Amino acid sequence: MSTIGHFVDGKRVAGSSERRADVFDPATGRRTGQVELACAADVARAVEAAERAARAWRDTSLAKRTAVLFAFRELVNARRDRLAQVVTAEHGKVLADAAGEVQRGLEVIEYACGIPSALRGGFSENVSTEVDSYSLRQPLGVVAVISPFNFPVMVPLWFVPVAVACGNAVVLKPSEKDPSAALLLAEWFAEAGLPDGVLNMVNGDKEAVDALLDHPGVKAVSFVGSTPVARYVHQRGSLAGKRVQALGGAKNHMVVLPDADLDLTADAAVNAGFGSAGERCMAISALVAVEPVADALVAKIAERMAGLRTGDGRRGCDMGPLVTAAHAAKVRSYVESGIAAGAVPVVDGRDVTPDGEAEGFWLGPTLFDHVTPQMSIYTDEIFGPVLSVVRVGSYDEAVDLVNANPYGNGTAIFTNDGGAARRYQHEVEVGMVGINVPIPVPMAYYSFGGWKASLFGDLHAHGADGVAFFTRGKVVTSRWLDPRHGGVNLGFPTQT
Ligand code: NAD
Repeated sequence: MSTIGHFVDGKRVAGSSERRADVFDPATGRRTGQVELACAADVARAVEAAERAARAWRDTSLAKRTAVLFAFRELVNARRDRLAQVVTAEHGKVLADAAGEVQRGLEVIEYACGIPSALRGGFSENVSTEVDSYSLRQPLGVVAVISPFNFPVMVPLWFVPVAVACGNAVVLKPSEKDPSAALLLAEWFAEAGLPDGVLNMVNGDKEAVDALLDHPGVKAVSFVGSTPVARYVHQRGSLAGKRVQALGGAKNHMVVLPDADLDLTADAAVNAGFGSAGERCMAISALVAVEPVADALVAKIAERMAGLRTGDGRRGCDMGPLVTAAHAAKVRSYVESGIAAGAVPVVDGRDVTPDGEAEGFWLGPTLFDHVTPQMSIYTDEIFGPVLSVVRVGSYDEAVDLVNANPYGNGTAIFTNDGGAARRYQHEVEVGMVGINVPIPVPMAYYSFGGWKASLFGDLHAHGADGVAFFTRGKVVTSRWLDPRHGGVNLGFPTQT
């Protein structure tokens, strides 16, 4: 049984805390290791290492920084299968899905390889006579990245490569449920030539997060997780004077208009509802069927669900287990409450026969019809393979429903009517919109982020927002001495 410790100053270290959490293989239900849970002193050690490294790293040339990023990209690319296996072993998602997550992470590394272009400033000659003005973007110092269980590779990679490329040092705190992938990333970054201390990793739970939020050496926090914790992290970090971006939970709606191609739509609903067992912040969990489309669409979705294989992610199944026994029990309780509230269970995932060990954390894909906006299966983020169909009478009713929802992460509209799609993209109060695309995750050179209770803070992840988040702007106004100038003038500077 392995014990997963921390990574500080370029090497694996054990912490001083005695606290541990169990790590499981969700497909077998077996405990595969224990992860150390850092105390404030362990966190302080990592922040101090980062502070020492940050001083030299900010002065390291862009050419040298990008050389490290290119080397890191090569290592991750060459070892992508191993990384995917580690993700599947601790998270449970099927191998193909884990490989997809690694690919999306690689794309952010590739974006960060181009950081010299993204960091370019502006220059204005002769803003006043023989006076020039130019802008710079400089790193913040030490930044913290706190990530959730559901993307143990991709979410750390949304932030770490961009932060490092911008000249910051990082303390990463991955989820305690599946910490091994992040540890590999930290080691491979070091192998790629990143100086000791520029990327550190502490494992832990709330105690470690609070220590990062309170430590005066941490200048900014990028957080991804559930909405209550995101709100808390944003408030506590902001009160401590830090820059905070805190991405929260979601309830993503897929609106289906009557003219949509129902086969394409049913395929998309199944992929987006049950991929990664619904444990994606961009999963579709509410399908808004604009009548008279619901009967035919529900039938087509149920037909496709009958062909899905739930089981061990290493056996070529379509859908894996849930991440922990506790989470599986919670999602099951939502299925029970949906039935009790009067929703119609078209497919009940509790009946599944998994292709995996009986002790795994299983729940099959579940489809509810006739869900109303008052039911908890609609109001709550379930974060499991439960798709709810809400029937509405018109486009206006659909968009009102989506906009009334407190979350605003992702949404999709399925239609062949370009005008309707354009109107939806304009009216919907959601940060990421798909048109006949069920999971509209932006490419690395755009920025990822939701609206409303799905993101606290101003700037989204990676792309131009990521660079803005991890840097501070500075404007320099310069005049090189010319003997014609001189003399005392107390007036406010104006152009001459
Ligand atoms: P979580 O909020 O339980 O945990 C996220 C991180 O916060 C972890 O590192 C965890 O150790 C830490 N944490 C947990 N409780 C804490 C507390 N009380 N105080 C301080 N820190 C705490 O989330 P999770 O279950 O790991 O991940 C699933 C959630 O993340 C879902 O709600 C999902 O929608 C969301 N998510 C959002 C996005 C996005 O981009 N908006 C992306 C991925 C996941």
